[in-house]
Amino acid sequence: MPAQRIHVIDGSSTDASLPPKRLEGKVAIVTGGARGIGKATVRFFTKHGAKVVIADIEDDTGTVLANALSPSAIYVHCDVSLEGDIENLINVTVSHYGRLDILFNNAGVLGKQSRTSKSIINFDADEFDRIMGINVRGAALGIKHAARVMVPRRSGCIISTASVAGLMGGLGPHTYTASKHAIVGLTRNTACELGRYGIRVNCISPFGVATSMLINAWRSSTCDEEEYMDLGGEEAGLDDDDDGEDDHVEKLEEVVRGLANLKGYTLKTKDIAEAAVYLASDESKYVSGHNLVVDGGYTTSKNCVG
Ligand code: NAD
Repeated sequence: MPAQRIHVIDGSSTDASLPPKRLEGKVAIVTGGARGIGKATVRFFTKHGAKVVIADIEDDTGTVLANALSPSAIYVHCDVSLEGDIENLINVTVSHYGRLDILFNNAGVLGKQSRTSKSIINFDADEFDRIMGINVRGAALGIKHAARVMVPRRSGCIISTASVAGLMGGLGPHTYTASKHAIVGLTRNTACELGRYGIRVNCISPFGVATSMLINAWRSSTCDEEEYMDLGGEEAGLDDDDDGEDDHVEKLEEVVRGLANLKGYTLKTKDIAEAAVYLASDESKYVSGHNLVVDGGYTTSKNCVG
């Protein structure tokens, strides 16, 4: 029987044909790293040899994850919309791990998604400021303070999570869509400016992944407001690992699968984490200002609603 080829990235194998650790020696920050896409990326970054600082506002969840990955990860409380928190995050990273190579600006919120609250007619300026403060100001502040330590070293890699909602309309609440378009623009402008210092700046645009964010949005748009609040509303805090046991999640994944051009696969958080590993690694050393769309061809498809 031919030997089975097993792809492990935990470093335990000496087989030269296996994929190497692609982030060995690098230090990364993952914002929104306690849950969902961020959590999967933290796991992949550490498996690939990086030391990771998990930045989030969910202190309990983030600390549990950091402890499970220790000493390859630490947790730092950071509300990305606050400049003081971002400054502290960068300082703690450099003092603890000695350097900063990769910033993954991933923290993000969708905002209210119930049928009534998402209409432009009910536009809420405070909600706009809150979403923009996290999704856009948070990313810009991250870039500003990461650049402070990357520019003198003439190297670094910055990745932000945009969305297919950053490429077209009709996929989310107005403010969320505007914020994700802004991430694509911020990425392009920053790549122009920081390229001369050897710093690469890219973003990733995922299609629908069944994380807490999307599951809660799906619930709120498929049941009435009262029923949604009974389910726990936006604060339900679902664990992204519990998908599959829930009718809402199964239905949501079925809808996303149906919309994608590429059939037969359900997009998972690990797929976005793999894209982040590629952009963070030296394999993408000449890739900058790019928006890596991970959508099973959705935005190029005739099914696309934009
Ligand atoms: P999630 O809700 O599972 O995770 C988001 C994380 O961000 C949570 O851990 C949360 O605590 C954290 N966070 C929220 N506000 C914060 C703040 N002010 N400061 C620091 N951390 C904060 O959602 P997710 O789907 O993993 O989302 C991650 C990113 O992916 C977001 O930017 C989102 O817009 C983007 N995205 C998600 C999808 C999807 O379908 N899930 C699609 C496209 C883009």
